[in-house]
Amino acid sequence: AHLDRIERLNPALNAFLLVDAEGALATAANVDEARAAGEELPRLAGVPIAVKDIACTRGLTTTAGSRMLEHFVPPYDATIVTKLREARMPILGKTNMDEFAMGSSTEHSAYGPTRNPWDLERIPGGSGGGSSAAVAGFLAPLAIGSDTGGSIRQPAAVTGTVGAKPTYGGVSRYGIIALASSLDQIGPCARTVADAALLHEVLGGHDPMDSTSIDAPVPPVVAAATGTRDLTGLRVGVVREIGGEGFQEGVQARFEESLDHLRALGAEIVEVSCPHFTYAMAAYYLILPSEASSNLARYDAMRYGLRVEPDGSPSAEQVMASSRDAGFGDEVKRRIILGTYALSSGYYDAYYGQAQKVRTLIARDFAAAFEQADVLVSPTAPTTAFRIGDKLDDPMSMYLNDIATIPANLAGVPGMSIPSGLAEEDGLPVGIQILAPAMEDQRMYAVGAALE
Ligand code: GLN
Repeated sequence: AHLDRIERLNPALNAFLLVDAEGALATAANVDEARAAGEELPRLAGVPIAVKDIACTRGLTTTAGSRMLEHFVPPYDATIVTKLREARMPILGKTNMDEFAMGSSTEHSAYGPTRNPWDLERIPGGSGGGSSAAVAGFLAPLAIGSDTGGSIRQPAAVTGTVGAKPTYGGVSRYGIIALASSLDQIGPCARTVADAALLHEVLGGHDPMDSTSIDAPVPPVVAAATGTRDLTGLRVGVVREIGGEGFQEGVQARFEESLDHLRALGAEIVEVSCPHFTYAMAAYYLILPSEASSNLARYDAMRYGLRVEPDGSPSAEQVMASSRDAGFGDEVKRRIILGTYALSSGYYDAYYGQAQKVRTLIARDFAAAFEQADVLVSPTAPTTAFRIGDKLDDPMSMYLNDIATIPANLAGVPGMSIPSGLAEEDGLPVGIQILAPAMEDQRMYAVGAALE
């Protein structure tokens, strides 16, 4: 049924870059057989899933939304893909994304934008717009996302779906094409909090292949998402610095309504202040480009990826330059230039070093806020889905979309977005973000499930 729907709707949505009907049907048939034979099966066996094209899939082209990797067929699976296979979940295909996960709209994909099922003229968020559109449009019940600054949560918000960024280190990134390694995290996209929790438990856990992977049990998110809806005694912090100016009226209104709902469920709402969040955006746009410029140095036209040879007898450097010129899009080039500049000698302390200090202050703000509150809440994104093309020429206004989601990545804490109704002025979905302390992912699932 999902493959039929993909065939019918994907030409309009462009959510999938690759569909593996044969592979998905083979896994499904295999599960059917095992079930008929009375074999004991994992919880999500037979449930189809879409995978963001940032995860390496053995034998299936993995582009990361870039021309650079147009013909890259990985010889191995990312750990999370291995886990999906072990869970016997049919992989429907690979979803569209902003090139190397840089963006908030999927418009930076080298393969054309994905469209929002709520309104085809609007963006489905980014960078994981393909995954969120697939889930929102019922092309897949579940999908994989990656979140470096909000790429799971913001797409969830603008498509009326659920998306969670686990605690940094909670899910392996082995085999995930790196954007900014100190920020990247893999997580679930779903239509309900319980579905997201089920997928989270499939993905999570220690992986010796990822040195940042936490060696501790996966937080009990399924139990939290399916347990009591009573929030009596829970302290919910509203971060003063996220919201107000720049936030759409209908977004703010739905957020206030969610606070009333939380009160009705027994929670106590407290205001908390995180004064350094004001600088999160500036720090992020130094740290991310710095790490990205280093990670993207591997696309040198020698080992893999696109290779463009200029006429004559070009030097190795000329081959690299023309390959990178042809293979990378404008946004990727912008960030590589910014990152190499910020890391260059003489500027390192002034930019990168300074940004790292701000990062520490933000982590301290979180620590102080979590003394006063068990979870924090805010709108996930300042606006509902904007029109395709509206922000393409204005990188700054595109960046501002992630103002509410970026602090969690800088501090490594988990965050999730769940739907909180439609904005009155445009009838489009709004998301509420729930943040919890590191390794307390179950708290946000409990609150999300209660609010749902
Ligand atoms: N939109 C943000 C950016 O462009 C976040 C990206 C992400 O989380 N991958 O950097």
